[in-house]
Amino acid sequence: MDRMTETKRDTLEGLRKRLATVADLGSANALLAWDQQVYMPKGGVEGRAEGMATLSRLAHEHFVDPETGRLLDAARDLDPETEDGALVRRARRDYERSTRLPSRLVEEMTRAESLAEPAWVEARASSDFSLFAPHLEKILPLQREAAEALGYEDHPYDALLDGYEPGAKKARLEAMFEELKKGIVPMIRRISERGDDGRAAVLRGDFDEAAQEKFGEEVVTAFGYDWDRGRQDRTVHPFCINFGPNDVRITTRFDPEWLSPALFGTMHETGHALYEQGVDPRYARTPLSGGTSMGVHESQSRMWENLVGRSRGFWSHYYPKLQGTFPEPLRDVEPEQFYRAINAVSPSEIRVEADEVTYNLHILLRFELEVALIEGSLAVADLPEAWNAKMEEYLGITPGSYATGVLQDVHWSSGLFGYFPTYTIGNVLSVQFFEEAVKARPEIPEGIQRGEFSALLSWLRENIHRHGSRYLPDEIVERVTGRPLDTAPYLRYLETKFGELYEL
Ligand code: ZN
Repeated sequence: MDRMTETKRDTLEGLRKRLATVADLGSANALLAWDQQVYMPKGGVEGRAEGMATLSRLAHEHFVDPETGRLLDAARDLDPETEDGALVRRARRDYERSTRLPSRLVEEMTRAESLAEPAWVEARASSDFSLFAPHLEKILPLQREAAEALGYEDHPYDALLDGYEPGAKKARLEAMFEELKKGIVPMIRRISERGDDGRAAVLRGDFDEAAQEKFGEEVVTAFGYDWDRGRQDRTVHPFCINFGPNDVRITTRFDPEWLSPALFGTMHETGHALYEQGVDPRYARTPLSGGTSMGVHESQSRMWENLVGRSRGFWSHYYPKLQGTFPEPLRDVEPEQFYRAINAVSPSEIRVEADEVTYNLHILLRFELEVALIEGSLAVADLPEAWNAKMEEYLGITPGSYATGVLQDVHWSSGLFGYFPTYTIGNVLSVQFFEEAVKARPEIPEGIQRGEFSALLSWLRENIHRHGSRYLPDEIVERVTGRPLDTAPYLRYLETKFGELYEL
């Protein structure tokens, strides 16, 4: 073995060691966050915040240490097509994002956000935008400053977006939304003209919580969720969190009078979890562990929730079981009636309760508003009015209050500018990927009708999950489907499914 090879191997080993330490600290912090949501008594809040801040700081300091930069430089000529090269590329990306933000700015952002969140909670509770406005006025200039520090080619928003969807650009998203709007807005108009026939009402009733939990567990076990490498707990806001590919946890909430939130929420979080459980275990404790972007992640959760969980085929197998679980509330509900209920389209104020058709317009509205806020073309004081105008334009409704309008989401109070579009990227990709899966494995739809999901899961594992963050989002889309992100399959899917459901 020559000296060069020897040195390069030492470099990689040194780099892997540093990155493993950073990953371990991150996992420890994630576990504290999980505990905070699941078990921690109220009194633990302050101590926990201190502990988590310390772990974050240690991880950050270790990562941005000049030694990391030196190792990355020494390994820079590795081909990103190789696993080692992909590791170095991803680590360098994260390193550059972390080192470009001055620590003074990071501190100011953290402080502003930690004050904004409780203010937002209060503002929403009293539906009083003026309580939140001054905080948003503080957060926005810091976000702009961060965008400048991170750097961008075309628009400051791109720099923020890149933190959640590496490589995504505002201009491309605008084109994506324009295509979606053209297809979806007229569809909603035609559905709305029919008036709400109350078809979703059968999902409300007396649905025993324990029975809901058991049914959900049965479904996600059949999906392929590995309980030896995961668990499910209850939280106020459902989420999926992981500490490497071998410990991937989900949480769910139950409404004893409404079937939908737990049923579809559990499928959704399991979609995220299957992605994480499917990552190549050799990537554990490296930046390649974990899904490649928020958008690709959401494509997995939405696929299991909607393309599988809200399909007629799925319920042809599962409805008799569901009816057996809830004989009383579902006694007189026919399978087809149930299928129509879980796919009811009804423009409403609240994003998280939106159906498949209206959902993306909620995102479009937020995307347009946050771009305008970041570039300064929309003043904070004018935000509520702009929100209501867009709600009227896209969904034909006026929010009854600020609480159910402009104040409904936590994101902006947490400084998450650039996050919202990843929900729609996920929706679009869910269908693009699913079509490709069915093309490669034509037995998938029939399997779903028998409650058999291994053909779909193994295709996802092979083509998407196992790669973790080895490929950037654009690369994985191109590798899997042979073309970039494409709205056509998604629009086709909506038109076919809801055209039939609403006889359009
Ligand atoms: Zn999700």
